[in-house]
This record gives sequence, C-alpha cells and structure tokens, in this order.
Amino acid sequence: MRLAQRMHGIGTETAFEAAARARALEAEGRDIIHLEIGEPDFDTPANIVAAAHRALDEGWTHYGPPLGLPPLREAIAADARLRKGFDADPDHVVVTPGAKPIMYYALLALVEEGDEVIYPDPGFPIYESMTRYAGGTPVPIPLREENDFRLDIDELRGLVTPRTRMIIFNSPHNPTGSVLTRRDIEAIADIAREHDTLVLADEIYGRIVHDGEFFSIASLPDMAERTIVLDGFSKTYAMTGWRLGYAILPPDLVTPFSKMIINSVSCTSSFSQMAAVEALTGPQGAVEEMVAEFRQRRDLIVDGLNRIEGIRCRLPAGAFYVFPNVAGTGLSGAEFANRMLNQAGVCMLAGTAFGQLATDHVRISYANSQANIRRALERMAELVATLPAGSRA
Ligand code: PLP
Repeated sequence: MRLAQRMHGIGTETAFEAAARARALEAEGRDIIHLEIGEPDFDTPANIVAAAHRALDEGWTHYGPPLGLPPLREAIAADARLRKGFDADPDHVVVTPGAKPIMYYALLALVEEGDEVIYPDPGFPIYESMTRYAGGTPVPIPLREENDFRLDIDELRGLVTPRTRMIIFNSPHNPTGSVLTRRDIEAIADIAREHDTLVLADEIYGRIVHDGEFFSIASLPDMAERTIVLDGFSKTYAMTGWRLGYAILPPDLVTPFSKMIINSVSCTSSFSQMAAVEALTGPQGAVEEMVAEFRQRRDLIVDGLNRIEGIRCRLPAGAFYVFPNVAGTGLSGAEFANRMLNQAGVCMLAGTAFGQLATDHVRISYANSQANIRRALERMAELVATLPAGSRA
C-alpha cells in the first residue's frame, strides 16, 4: 500500500516491542522479570476507582466539552498553583486522553517546515518522531552521564539558531531519572526569552522526586505565556490505562488545541475525568507511599548494579528509572539488553531506544517489587560473570 510521505518520518516507542518479545518468551514457558515497563506497578488508589464507579452510576457516560470538564480544569489549575507555583487559569487548561497527544498537538500546531526543535537525547522518543512528522528539524541536546544526565546550558545556548521554534525538556527525566536544578531551569528560561522560543516542559514525573525539589519553568517571570506545561495522571496516580493527561497552555494556544481535539478525539472520557477530580482533590497518601517505595527500590537497584563488575550506575534523583553504563561488560547497551532477555530472562530497554547517543546504556525500570529486583540483579550478575573476563572493566 502506498503510504503518505509524511509517514516516513514517524518513529515509534520500542518499549511496547520489548514487552511483546518478553510476552512471546513467556508464552513459551520462560520466567521473565519485567524491568522494561514505563508505568507504576501499583494499583490506582481505591478512592479514585470508587469515584469512577460513582461517576458511571451517575451517568457520566456521554461526550463532554472538548477542553475537559470544568471541575477538572479548575482542580488542575488549583493543583498547579499549589505544586507548580504559578497562577494557572482554568481557561488555559486542556484535558487530553493521556499526555502524549499534547506533544502531537503542540508540534503540529506550532512547527513549520524547517523550524528547529531542540529535544533531549536520550529522551522520550516521541519528541523527535513528532517533530519530524510535523515537518520540523529535530535538534538533539546530549544528556551526558558525567553531568548526571542534566543538559549542559552552554551547549544548549550553542544549539539555538534563528530557526529554533521550541525547546523541549523533561524533568524528572525518562529514561535517566535526572532532575534539573532550579538554576538549570532558570538558564533555560533566559535562553527562551532571549531568543523568543517556545518551551514544552514535560512535567509528567514531577511528583516522583527522591532528592532535591521539583521546579516548574512556568513559575518564572513571563514564562507561562511561552510554555506548554505537559502533565498527567498516568505516573503520579498509577492511572496509565485511564488515559488522562493535561496541558496548561499559553492563552493563544487554547483555541488551536480545541480544534485539534475536535478533529481527533472529540474529548476525554467523562467518567475518567470525574475520577481525576478525586485524584487531585482527595487524599494524597497513596502517592506519598508509592514514591517512598520507589525510593527504596532505587537505592536497592543502584547499589546492586554498582556491585556487578563492568556496570556503573548513577543515583538518579527522580522518576522510577535507572540508566546504567554497561560498556565495562564488553557489550553495547543493545547487546546487553538482548542477552539479558534471551539468556537471563530479564527484560530492559537499550539506551538507543531513546535516541542515538546512549549506545553504552540500558534503561531499567524499577516499577517492580523489591523481591523481583533482587532476583533480576542476581540473574544479571550471573550472566555478566560468564562474559569473557578481559572485556570487563
Ligand atoms: N512524557 C514522558 C517523559 C513519558 O515517559 C510518558 C509516558 O511514558 C508520557 C509523557 C506520556 O504519558 P501518558 O500519555 O500516559 O500520559
């Protein structure tokens, strides 16, 4: 079949493919430990599930307004005032089925042929893919291990040209778990103001911070009017399958987003949105417990990885991922991930699932029990011990 030209630039997210390969091995009877997953392994908190039941009983089963239900847009704005530290207006909030469509809408609405979009490498693969799809030129900013996977501000400054339309950053970061400092974010804001670029701030892991503090660029002077704040419910409230995300937009983007929503999905599920109101306004204890458990697992996995000869792993400050360097085993990240899956039954992703640069790394998600993390570490150590000794650092 002849596909439209625009399909040539579109990429994918290999996490879904790795999970499918792991499931195929499981179907053959293999025991696989899943460390490839980009979602909390916790259940959605019971109060949120109960709110969805109530909403269904009350008949929240119809189309809603394209931009989202007013009580949810208000709850999101109130939450942003509290946690993101800026005076968010409910009229500038749009609710979407997951946060991913926000990347799609923002890039399609704003990027013209030849416009440049700076995005992190390694980074969430959809930034690059959707920039190409929109006709733009993706410009990677490397995130280096020696800088704790934070972007280098001087390097960012050097990448900005008169064609730079947007700077995308993500803190806390997938796949490395890095968290930008307030100073980093202030410097990004200075560059955006100076060169009149837009910013897409992916704050989806903003509540999952283990060291330091979350900081929103939209709280800085004049930044809310040039920033698309992307956030959602998938990670914070373990609600990936509910498909609930949101953006807080510069005022001029609200009508274009409304048109994009009307042309694609019409609106987000109404009963999911009612549950989201409970998520934001109800008790937050379950989130705090989840983050505390993630922190223990992070310490466990980083310590365990650093004990394996040939692997070195930084201590990430946020999210639920580690991004170890496996070059000392003599294998590339992709070879390492393949062998771990096929020979040791531990599924993880190659660093190159997140761009071109991280060839020596793998992404391991610790959204799995401490018992399974221990088992995975044992299997990894056993397999690494069978590799030729000379290749190990
Ligand atoms: N942004 C980042 C960095 C992510 O890792 C993800 C999900 O993996 C998303 C956005 C999108 O999440 P969702 O569409 O489930 O809200």
